[in-house]
Amino acid sequence: MKEIVVNLGGIVPLSTVDWPGHAAIVLFLRGCPLRCPHCHNFALQSGDSSVNFHSVASKIVSLVKGETIVARASSQNSWQIDLGEAAERASSKPFVDALVLSGGEPLMQSEPAERLFRLAGSLQLCTGLETSGCYPERLRRPLERDLVDKVFLDIKAALQDPSYERATGFVGVAARVKESLMICMERGVALEVRTTVFPEMPASSELEEIACMLSELKSMYPGSCLERLVLQQGLPREGEERFEPVSRARLKEIARSIGGGILVGIKAKPDNFCKT
Ligand code: SF4
Repeated sequence: MKEIVVNLGGIVPLSTVDWPGHAAIVLFLRGCPLRCPHCHNFALQSGDSSVNFHSVASKIVSLVKGETIVARASSQNSWQIDLGEAAERASSKPFVDALVLSGGEPLMQSEPAERLFRLAGSLQLCTGLETSGCYPERLRRPLERDLVDKVFLDIKAALQDPSYERATGFVGVAARVKESLMICMERGVALEVRTTVFPEMPASSELEEIACMLSELKSMYPGSCLERLVLQQGLPREGEERFEPVSRARLKEIARSIGGGILVGIKAKPDNFCKT
């Protein structure tokens, strides 16, 4: 049996901010094909810190149950964890109720990602995927198999070049993200769209364009489950030249002005914390 490895960037054992309303374990999968200029997880764009899948699985089970389940060597000399045993042990899970895969771009490792979602399902955890949407063909499969309960999709700019090229460093990504968006709308998976707002991009007109497009799609797909668009405050990443982030008050103002057919929320620090 082929040994599955996970190029793991890190684990947050408990987060209540990645998926509001849930207490989630967040797994950061290393590697991303994009090069967004303000990348919030710059250190995870590349590199190799691969670990055996079953040691990650053991860690997740121990976080859910509060004890360790040990992976065993199978007859094929690969490490196995019994999902039935994991589920049994997790039946009295104390607090955690969700697993979120983040990155990097989690779908760059689609096979481990799918396995992790299956493990989460066997532990009765809700499953969330934070994605840039650059791999529509890899998104379709876990959605068709009902492995993902909620998608958090980044839409970084108006969905055409040159805006999207500026936001991601590559030409042609916009069409792929749009395809991912359509897949989510067609499948009716719970969906939150996130746009990070920096002082120089995206422009207010692009935010309006994104909101309009989402509103139109919502009408076109009545079975879709688009919950909201969230405008996130873009902050300087570590090592980047400091800049003054767009204030919370301004984000609120933008959210009010572009809202219409969809709910628009904001995620920002209080203005007095925004000074650089
Ligand atoms: S998609 Fe996310 S992880 Fe990839 S470069 Fe952009 S901000 Fe960084």
